[in-house]
Amino acid sequence: MEVDESGAEPGAEAAGQADAEPAAEPSAGPNAEPFGSTQGSGHWNACGVHREAAATFTCSRCGTFGCPECLDSMQPMPLCVACAARGVNAVPWERRETVGLWRGFWDTTFELCLRPKEFFARPAVDSLGGGAFYGVVAYTAGNMAFVLQFALLYGVIGLVAGLSSGNEAAGAAMGIGIGALGCIMVPIVGVQAPVMAVFGMAFGMAGAHLSLTLMKQARGSWEASLRGVGYANAAYMWLAVPCVGLFISPFAVVWLEARAISAAHETSTFVAFAAVVMWRLLLTTLLFAVYMLFLAAVMGMVPGTLGPSAP
Ligand SMILES: [Zn+2]
Ligand SMILES: [Zn+2]
Repeated sequence: MEVDESGAEPGAEAAGQADAEPAAEPSAGPNAEPFGSTQGSGHWNACGVHREAAATFTCSRCGTFGCPECLDSMQPMPLCVACAARGVNAVPWERRETVGLWRGFWDTTFELCLRPKEFFARPAVDSLGGGAFYGVVAYTAGNMAFVLQFALLYGVIGLVAGLSSGNEAAGAAMGIGIGALGCIMVPIVGVQAPVMAVFGMAFGMAGAHLSLTLMKQARGSWEASLRGVGYANAAYMWLAVPCVGLFISPFAVVWLEARAISAAHETSTFVAFAAVVMWRLLLTTLLFAVYMLFLAAVMGMVPGTLGPSAP
């Protein structure tokens, strides 16, 4: 394959432009005439890479004319293989080296929470380092933001309680003291949450993937399941929203996980929901049963707790 660099090399990608949503441009058919025709015989436009081939599409990213061989057919929009190889259409988190860690995280989080279907239609370029790593960061950040809210709340309650006692110095000291005590929880959660996140994702991956296997619906890899479960942890960022976040988060996790599993394994929404809900119900029932057995055993061992006590 002869590669002609002159027409195919798109301009250097600026970080600002990298994430702009490309205009919805339908893939040009064989009869379409891309504008600016100066190459070729005059009746058709040559592919930017293969000068002997006619262009059939314009890359939605770099604007290069491309022939069918240059079209990356795995993409939801017309994209040339050069752009696809550079991962320009990948999820923001998997482009974090280009767009920056901070922007990669927030763009990913917002897109997951607001437009999950578009998010999971993007190609995976970094399965393990992408989804799993994001899952740990989002879970940890969400939980840290959650305990920070409580630290502030404790501080205010302490302050009000102290001030209403009549001694303002004592009130201030009490508020700061209780607030600081609450703040100690933030780094503790920061250390403990990543471990919890890893366990949670391991359970999530195993549970969903085994359920799909049992239903004979597992079409993707274990890695794809883990990636989906990791990105579903974006729902824990709801914990950063005061008051309502706590109640939205658990439902959002299940919902996002179902979306992720459905996309990764090309299953119906119903099958994906069954896969992510079944193991949770099973595990909850099992834990409840073990707890009851434990309780029964303890009560049986302690004399006098069962039946009428001896005189
Ligand atoms: Zn391109
Ligand atoms: Zn070509």
